[in-house]
Order: sequence, then C-alpha cells, then structure tokens
Amino acid sequence: MKIIEIKTKKRIEFIEITESVGKIVKESKIREGICVIFCPHTTAGLTINENADPSVRKDIISHLEKIVPPRGNYSHLEGNADSHIKSSFLGSSLNLIIHQEKLVLGTWQGIYFCEFDGPRQRKVYLKLISA
Ligand code: ZN
Repeated sequence: MKIIEIKTKKRIEFIEITESVGKIVKESKIREGICVIFCPHTTAGLTINENADPSVRKDIISHLEKIVPPRGNYSHLEGNADSHIKSSFLGSSLNLIIHQEKLVLGTWQGIYFCEFDGPRQRKVYLKLISA
C-alpha cells in the first residue's frame, strides 16, 4: 500500500492529487490494472472532476455549502456535522483503470482530495492491482 500525505489549509478545500497518484502508478511499473484510492477520514472525501476551469470546483463547494450548511439543526454536536454529511455525499474511494502504465482519465478530469473540516494533516491510501 502507498500513502499520499496531504496538509490542508482551509476548512473546505479541494486539493488535486492527480500528479501524485500518476507518479505512484508510473513507479509501480504495472502495465494493466486497477488503482484503488481510499480516504480514511470521516470529514473528507474524494472526487473526480474538471481540472481546467477552477470555477467548477468553486461551484461544487459553494453548492455543497448551500445543500449542507455549516450551521444547522444537527444531532452531532462536535461542530462538524456538515463535514460528515459532505464526506458521505462524495464518498471515500475511487477506482481507476491503469492502461499502458498510465491512469485512464478523461481530458478534463482531475482527482481531488476534498477537505471538509480542515485545516488538518490528511492521508490517502492507494492500492495498485495488476490485472
Ligand atoms: Zn464529528
């Protein structure tokens, strides 16, 4: 298993990890297979979306904030109930195809670590399977 360490700086922030994941895939020398990316945190998540226009990320974040506002009638009293809900909305793992030693991604796609209760020191786990 490989680990990517991430230091987030804001409460809510999307950090692109495409390059770090791509580097690990390249170093693995796996020609064909699967790359599983897993986020072991309950107030963060993972997603794939556009990495060309940063306004897309801005819109995702602002609309998540509207759907699940930071302050609300929550039962979880730690002050981060919204962060847990946002984490579940996006999910905690991604499966990517490795083809000809590279990750298969669409032209405009990037892999994002999504912080919902930062700033924190975070980790992402990777498992690469040759298949
Ligand atoms: Zn909590």
